[in-house]
Amino acid sequence: VEQRFVGQTALVTGAAGNIGLAVATRLAREGARLVLLDLDGDKLGHARDEVATLGGKVETVLCDVTDYKSVEAAVATAEAALGPVGLLFNNAGYQGAFAPIHEYPVEDFERVVQIDLIGAFHVLRAVSRRMVAQKFGRIVNTASMAGLQGPPNMGAYGASKFGVVGLTQVASKDLAPHNIRVNGIAPALMGPGFMWDRQTELQARTNTQYFSTDPEEVKKQMLGGVPMRRLGAMEEIPGVVSFLLSDDSSYITGVTLPISGG
Ligand code: NAD
Repeated sequence: VEQRFVGQTALVTGAAGNIGLAVATRLAREGARLVLLDLDGDKLGHARDEVATLGGKVETVLCDVTDYKSVEAAVATAEAALGPVGLLFNNAGYQGAFAPIHEYPVEDFERVVQIDLIGAFHVLRAVSRRMVAQKFGRIVNTASMAGLQGPPNMGAYGASKFGVVGLTQVASKDLAPHNIRVNGIAPALMGPGFMWDRQTELQARTNTQYFSTDPEEVKKQMLGGVPMRRLGAMEEIPGVVSFLLSDDSSYITGVTLPISGG
């Protein structure tokens, strides 16, 4: 791959997770210095080892995105170690419970909103404030297809991801005068793996009209709605994020790009 991010510092949240690590690895291969931020210290150590094998500079910061002070401190630590953050992949997230809205657990709803929407805002605020001072920034927020078309039984997640799409549009306008572009990605069914298994298992258990009660059947039902008739692979995400962070997308801001097989 091209070394198009040489000399730049990228901050990735949810960096210990599947999508975060895949994107961090890609940005490191393209020459960026990497700050990996996550809540899970063990997984974060593994992610650091993986990114470090590529030879570039990498730092990790433990941080809970739901806590604004923790986010501010993490960004300050990151910048002290690797210099101003010009690239942000704002990606930490949690899928929440699966239940129809009239039965959706209240505490879980609040938790999902705290992480997926308010957490995304916290990171966006702390990082973009510094980008404004530098007059440079490229931001990609991780939304979801659930943030463009509300799926059944995912009230908290769908509402939060719709919020992320809205935040992306608003932030793109607020930050355009400061040479900061803000875009998003909306992955759909990714797998195989834990998320895909969890999602189909939990949808089956909701026992609602939309899905079979057999998880294997749910997989077929979901894939039946995808024009390309297959899951997305993790490797199909990093190139899109890299594109949105690079000058190849220099006239694109405020969009959320579906990665959904149609
Ligand atoms: P994942 O669970 O592998 O990664 C999520 C990471 O976020 C984890 O490492 C977790 O520790 C971290 N995290 C959770 N809460 C946090 C907090 N409060 N503070 C800091 N870090 C926290 O899942 P993933 O599939 O890599 O998901 C990444 C993003 O992609 C999420 O925003 C998710 O909603 C979104 N997404 C995933 C899919 C999919 O099918 N995998 C589809 C659409 C959107």
